[in-house]
Amino acid sequence: MRVLITGGAGFLGSHLCDRFLAEGHTVVAMDNLITGNTRNIAHLAGNKNFTFIHHDITNYIYLNGDVDAVLHFASPASPIDYLKLPIQTLKVGSLGTHNALGLALAKGARFLLASTSEVYGDPLEHPQKETYPGNVDPIGPRGVYDEAKRFAEALTMAYHNVHGVETRIVRIFNTYGPRMRLADGRVVPNFIAQALRGEPLTVYGDGSQTRSFQYVSDLIEGIYRLLLSNYNDPVNIGNPEEMTILEFANAVNAATNNAAGVIYKDERIKGDPQTRQPDITRAQTILGWQPKVKLREGLEHTIAYFREVL
Ligand code: UDP
Repeated sequence: MRVLITGGAGFLGSHLCDRFLAEGHTVVAMDNLITGNTRNIAHLAGNKNFTFIHHDITNYIYLNGDVDAVLHFASPASPIDYLKLPIQTLKVGSLGTHNALGLALAKGARFLLASTSEVYGDPLEHPQKETYPGNVDPIGPRGVYDEAKRFAEALTMAYHNVHGVETRIVRIFNTYGPRMRLADGRVVPNFIAQALRGEPLTVYGDGSQTRSFQYVSDLIEGIYRLLLSNYNDPVNIGNPEEMTILEFANAVNAATNNAAGVIYKDERIKGDPQTRQPDITRAQTILGWQPKVKLREGLEHTIAYFREVL
């Protein structure tokens, strides 16, 4: 296959580039580099099956030649980023998704949308099944990301229903691993950087809010299987092992031998989900997928990466 990966220089996009190249495919990565970084794909320079195009996909996408699949991963994704870049976030989720779908239609390519557990907002159903419609405040601070992704899902389904584009929608739950940006403000890079500096970890609120963290290689496997499947409805891909943010802080401190403990900060963004846990029955049934990497192991790889970056 020849695949286009939008957001190809980002955290997830760059891991997808690696996976598709390893499977023998040809990869075109596109990124405007506002949150992505060419450092993430520098190791692919010189690979004859790999091309990087510096382009903002909210503008029309020109691409010569055949394309078999479009994986749409371009978007700011951390709350700090999308609070700083609200309009860019809305534009890439709407105009960017429209352009990427238009390209898929013109090329007869399969299309896979990177959606998110944020479509569930601050969920009133727990754990979250794909059938749960969500609890999102459109004008809340997180609405710019949540609604952009919800719109992107709606547009993707419309292209499937109206134009018959072969579409896939993955709802990605909190994912961590090497190539996350040190300063992207999310809990994983924040905690690991603080721990490696011997500082206390900044727990927002009382730390009772929960998340379920999946290691990046598990996600990439799920996405690969989903693309090759024939399933059009959204599929949650996440690790159901749920923990409080305080428990997660303790796990990071233990894995780094950091004795500085935690400090509590009153910095929760309005609408910060109190709980989040994927129901992965659909992924298990349809894709035969489930996460394999334990938190301890995933943290080790991620800590090693951040140690080098620091
Ligand atoms: N969080 C925290 N300390 C930090 C950064 C984040 O306690 O230094 C909390 C945040 O309030 C949220 C959770 O960790 O409840 C996960 O936040 P993140 O930004 O990683 O992503 P989210 O899952 O909210 O999209």
